[in-house]
Amino acid sequence: MRAVELIQAKRDGSELSSEQIRFLIDGFVAGEIPDYQMSAWAMAVFFRGLTLRETAALTAAMIASGETIDLRDVRGVKVDKHSTGGVGDTTTLVLAPLVATLGVPVAKMSGRGLGHTGGTIDKLESIPGFQVELTREQFIRQVNDMGVSVISQTAKLAPADKLLYALRDVTATVESIPLIAASIMSKKIASGADAIVLDVKTGSGAFMKTIDESIRLAQTMVAIGHELGRETIAIISNMNQPLGNAIGNALEVREALALLRGDSGVSLDLLECCLILGAHMVVLGKQASTVDEAKEMLRLNLYQGLALNKFAEFAVAQGGAAELIHSPNLLPRAPRIEYVHASEKGYVSAIQTESLGIAAMRLGAGRATKQDQIDLAVGLKLLKRIGDPVVVGEAIVEIHAQEHIPPTELTEIIRIISEAYFYQSQPISPLPLIHAIVSKQGVEYV
Ligand code: URA
Ligand code: CA
Repeated sequence: MRAVELIQAKRDGSELSSEQIRFLIDGFVAGEIPDYQMSAWAMAVFFRGLTLRETAALTAAMIASGETIDLRDVRGVKVDKHSTGGVGDTTTLVLAPLVATLGVPVAKMSGRGLGHTGGTIDKLESIPGFQVELTREQFIRQVNDMGVSVISQTAKLAPADKLLYALRDVTATVESIPLIAASIMSKKIASGADAIVLDVKTGSGAFMKTIDESIRLAQTMVAIGHELGRETIAIISNMNQPLGNAIGNALEVREALALLRGDSGVSLDLLECCLILGAHMVVLGKQASTVDEAKEMLRLNLYQGLALNKFAEFAVAQGGAAELIHSPNLLPRAPRIEYVHASEKGYVSAIQTESLGIAAMRLGAGRATKQDQIDLAVGLKLLKRIGDPVVVGEAIVEIHAQEHIPPTELTEIIRIISEAYFYQSQPISPLPLIHAIVSKQGVEYV
């Protein structure tokens, strides 16, 4: 077999065999197939696509390129959740303890943030003392003892994906549905999931800007999951505005704690997203027979404070400060608060979500490149969401910044946020949060 023939075959629209795909991936990881050939193949895939069989074979080859986590010692059905990345998406911090209260084991590996999207591991690190690295034995023991642990994804999972993603990033081949699907599913399956709930974001803050594209990505991932023996379902959810009101690491932990405490002022979209994703996890984990039943069980445990207690239990087990639950002020806090004001009277009609993610990143809450250090304290708090009425000069966003932020930078960040908000004079009904559910039975529009 020669790489050039496989590039040519894909360029001309032929289907590759599993052996041919395995040859490409293994050769690439071993350094025998150079970046320029792998890039050419990725571009051929970008234009020609991959069949489902090819996509599943690519996923399997990427899983086989590295370690896989064996969770057989964890009792119960291990259900993992993955979000395709959004802004202000704090669901994992709420879901992990919430779902665990119903006996669904959560052995979760999460990642760090990059670009305008945040990552669970960075958020957890804003809890003083919290350890995101555990040994495999500690991880499994903790899940068996208390039902939940969240740790940092090791670099040894699916190394082929890491290498291929780095090439795609600089060759304009990220936006290929089969390549994205194989990338996500290889990491989920390698980290030991028996069943997977996917939250595919759609809209101005997401990878996929339209519902149709999001559904195609979801269908591809659901099909790969089933092809590789993992029950998989996907929710298509709206990312035309940040999910929660907080954007930034410690600020998002505060919002998650407020939600778990049952405080008012949290985003109802965040609550709803947690309940729907959690309900599907509970059904796949065989602790309820219907999604509606699971949702009510979750709501009850949330309101009774069981999820908050579970959060405290698992955070303390991983080294976090026990007082945190009652004193969120232990979290890092930015010294300087500034406000962005509405430029028009009317109703908020749209929010350029990606811009808010970028504004938070520029404050220091996110990384422009993988090497960047982040500032856990800084970020944004939305005071107005789509549909809210505003008058000229009313505060729409609270900026949490460091004291020494250069004035020109602050001015630029305020401009970005201000331009991210759009208004109209007529009232506007709230956006639907969930557009569709994609399962092996097909697409159910909500
Ligand atoms: N997220 C991933 O993990 N991989 C992709 O290719 C795109 C988004
Ligand atoms: Ca001020």
